[in-house]
Amino acid sequence: AEEVGGGDKEVVKDYFNKSGFERWKKIYGETDDVNRVQRDIRLGHSKTVENVMKMLTDEGPLQGVSVCDAGCGTGCLAIPLAKEGAVVTAADISAAMVAEAEKQAKEQLKLSNGFSAGPVLPKFVVKDLESLDGKYDTVVCLDVLIHYPQSKADGMIAHLASLAENRLLISFAPKTLYYDVLKRIGELFPGPSKATRAYLHSEADVERALKKVGWRIRKRGLTTTQFYFSRLVEAVPAN
Ligand code: SAM
Repeated sequence: AEEVGGGDKEVVKDYFNKSGFERWKKIYGETDDVNRVQRDIRLGHSKTVENVMKMLTDEGPLQGVSVCDAGCGTGCLAIPLAKEGAVVTAADISAAMVAEAEKQAKEQLKLSNGFSAGPVLPKFVVKDLESLDGKYDTVVCLDVLIHYPQSKADGMIAHLASLAENRLLISFAPKTLYYDVLKRIGELFPGPSKATRAYLHSEADVERALKKVGWRIRKRGLTTTQFYFSRLVEAVPAN
């Protein structure tokens, strides 16, 4: 069988260990050295993280809930999850990203000393998401599907669903909107397309992939800013 991710995966990994790491660390950070487009993406992405936190906590407290953050980047989601008491496994294909996420988590979390209550440091692992195993109450995968062509997306979604016991949240750049956006901003589009290919996905395709493995979409969200578009879906076992 063809390897999931294929040749693309090596390119993506290399990008997120080098120039992509520097670029996205800046965008996902808080420093002022970002341009207008990057600032807009930062804002859009932070809204996605907020939406995820809301979708998750609306179902109940996260204290003690196991969550896998697949493709964790610099830890933008893993850290707030840990703050809510979730037991987080944060994995990324890029060792540079994982190291940054761990550094930030140690700085930002007031960790439990083992005697008092408090957040637990996420478990950080350098792994592509196809190599993840185990079972988690919740699996979240934000803005990673953009690196997967449609031919690999179904397998990726099926794998993430197999790790999740109760819910799976995935965000992705929606296909329909994209073409309008492209027309409006042309080559300005600041996605990872600058160095790697960016793949858009239609919501219907994602829904079909989930359905194939017995999952249904329970909640949907959409984050749009000027330069950032992300569809968020929360899927649960169909019955
Ligand atoms: N999920 C994070 C967030 O929303 O803050 C980071 C999003 S960033 C646009 C995409 C991340 O996906 C990068 O950190 C990249 O290294 C990771 N990634 C890409 N392909 C991956 C794969 N096959 N397995 C695991 N991580 C991957």
